Amino acid sequence: MYLLLVEDEASLAEGLVGLLTARGHKVEWASHGAMALQAAQTHRFDVVVLDLGLPDISGMRVLATLREQHADIPVLILSARDQAIDKIDAINAGADDYLSKPFDAAELEARLFALLRRRGGAASAKLDCAGVSFDANTRRFHCQGHTLNVSPREHLALLALVQAQGTPLSRQELFDRVFVTDDDIAHDALDVVLYRLRKRLDELGVAIRNVRGIGFYLEASHTP
Ligand code: CA
Repeated sequence: MYLLLVEDEASLAEGLVGLLTARGHKVEWASHGAMALQAAQTHRFDVVVLDLGLPDISGMRVLATLREQHADIPVLILSARDQAIDKIDAINAGADDYLSKPFDAAELEARLFALLRRRGGAASAKLDCAGVSFDANTRRFHCQGHTLNVSPREHLALLALVQAQGTPLSRQELFDRVFVTDDDIAHDALDVVLYRLRKRLDELGVAIRNVRGIGFYLEASHTP
């Protein structure tokens, strides 16, 4: 999903951008309310994650303005526990959900998907490439009527390839998507992941092409 993260705490924001990007989402980060409103004018976000305590204008003001301009964007509020505003106030002001800091990134992601489902975003939560489709609601891949059972790393590699939509990914780009938090990974570890994935996809008529100097991409190879 394409999301706008409005958060002035740089370390928290960078951590979230890293995690959500690694999970295959596209994130724009705004550290100030004014930046957020400007970004919402020029991009179509699926969902907004909004911190209430911002340096310029309050998160509640940002929420009110967002609601005037884009009535249908789901907004999830992030807030420190000691802030005066409570969940009811935020929901009354037009927020769709509310999460207190500190929170777990997996919970944030689960709630964002739940918001998209409630807003009828399920249709846009499906992605296809070369006969492989990814359902963002169930987080599963389908191909030729089969549900693909893949390991977590194969999942990350395939997701990166499906999201690239046939545009080649360099070896480094693919590596960074598959081995997000691991240090000291041998560079050929990616080959092991791709070997298994290729074996699985080949019988379904999908190839992972690798063009030297260009990169990796998915292509329909034959009718199985
Ligand atoms: Ca803040």
